[in-house]
Amino acid sequence: MKFLIMGPPGAGKGTQAKILAEKFNLEHLSTGDILRSEINNKSDVGLKAQKFMDAGNLVPDDVLLSMMKNKLTQLRNSGIILDGFPRTVPQAEGLSKIFSSLESKIDYVINIEVEENALIKRLIERAKKSGRADDTEDVIIKRQHVYKELTEPLIEYYSSEIIQVDGDGTIEEVTHRILKRII
Ligand code: AMP
Repeated sequence: MKFLIMGPPGAGKGTQAKILAEKFNLEHLSTGDILRSEINNKSDVGLKAQKFMDAGNLVPDDVLLSMMKNKLTQLRNSGIILDGFPRTVPQAEGLSKIFSSLESKIDYVINIEVEENALIKRLIERAKKSGRADDTEDVIIKRQHVYKELTEPLIEYYSSEIIQVDGDGTIEEVTHRILKRII
């Protein structure tokens, strides 16, 4: 099965993706984690991505699409959960082409909704522990703006199939809401 989990920065999509990956035996593909490991390895992709990430901007679509085409082709026979990709409409269009070429498709699109002020509060708390270069207050706010402008339109793009889940509450409550909608 192929899952796609979306939501604004701080909505808890990474946490829920991990739980779903374990439960349904899925490969968890977090593009943020993949890009951070490319940066640690000083790869070509990492070198291209770093300045965008540090500033809270999105890494260009062509970089993401070629990286994800490779990963999805390698994992064509596995269950997967995409976390943090696609993040723009052109990425979603590219993803649809990749899946068609692999004769595959997305089974579930889940969107976790959390109100903006609550998100900023959560992210500032997370920043105290994360050590991430993009977890300063200015960059946190910038990432919310980028989300609204470039990623939120995906809710409309996937409107015919999207499963909307309220992300306010404990981790267990949110997981329960997701599971109720998919099994
Ligand atoms: P995340 O860990 O999902 O919050 O992602 C951290 C950063 O990685 C984002 O702020 C972007 O700079 C970059 N990034 C992750 N996924 C994507 C994507 N699908 N498209 C463009 N940039 C991305």
